[in-house]
Amino acid sequence: MRMKRVAAVAMMASLALSAAACGKEGTPAPSGGNASGGAQGDTCTTSGATFTPKGDANVAGSPTFDKIKSSGKVTVGVKFDQPNLGYKDAQGKRCGFDIEIAQYVASTLGVDPAKIEYKEIASANRETAIKGGEIDYYVGTYSITDKRKNDISFAGPYFIAGQDLLVRKDETTITGKDTLKGKKVCSATGSTPIQKVRDEGLTEPENIVEFKTYSECVSQLLDKKVDAVTTDDAILKGYAAQNPDELKVAGQPFSTEKYGIGLPKDDKALRDYVNDQIEAAAKDGTWQKIYDGTLGKSGSAGSPPALERY
Ligand code: GLU
Repeated sequence: MRMKRVAAVAMMASLALSAAACGKEGTPAPSGGNASGGAQGDTCTTSGATFTPKGDANVAGSPTFDKIKSSGKVTVGVKFDQPNLGYKDAQGKRCGFDIEIAQYVASTLGVDPAKIEYKEIASANRETAIKGGEIDYYVGTYSITDKRKNDISFAGPYFIAGQDLLVRKDETTITGKDTLKGKKVCSATGSTPIQKVRDEGLTEPENIVEFKTYSECVSQLLDKKVDAVTTDDAILKGYAAQNPDELKVAGQPFSTEKYGIGLPKDDKALRDYVNDQIEAAAKDGTWQKIYDGTLGKSGSAGSPPALERY
């Protein structure tokens, strides 16, 4: 029941955000987990940016690009339940900052964003999906970490977030990361935030609750089965905005999460190319346009981070 309610509210919020925008209709939003799929073309650009495929795109020495070029399509891993970031609305249209970054990257590779095939990949399964060639690249609140760099590579960062806490509106005792002892804290399997809760012992092991997705944690929070949800502030703000009468973001961000585009580890040519494209988007205003029309709608100003070229 609760899951349905979260999803329904999420869809309404996204619909309001995307009222002006989208392409053809797809399938309804799935209710959770690690489902894949999504008809081609079912994306929207709430920012109003246009992503014209580069006619002369060439990435010499990139096996991934060769595959994309010969098939004429690109397969991109994304999230589906993160409002304003990677989100699938009631009409099956995919919207948000990460979705538009994914569209932009596709266009620089010469692919019409309408030809993107989206695959929903949960946090815990990203490296496996990239390593196995299931997706060409991944755009979905994916923090650049040394551990992940053992398996894949990253272009970016294209955004910087910070770990924070989502609590019920009437919560007064949870005000920051050092107030979590004895509280039930929920996060996603395989994520950096759940790792931090464990590594720093922010709550007792028996009080750590994990699900594949953050929306499942939010349902638990609304149902009073957990006391807090922890992940990046950019994600939590989206959930708080869906349920402003019941939820709030508490405390200050307590980590630095640099979002990268996940790429096959050995494809250095593609990584250099995507880095160049991110840099170009920062310079020519495309990044700002995407941000202002998606995440920036929550009211917080943002600007492109310095590229680090890992
Ligand atoms: N940025 C964090 C991570 O990559 C949390 C968000 C997520 O799970 O996608 O683990």
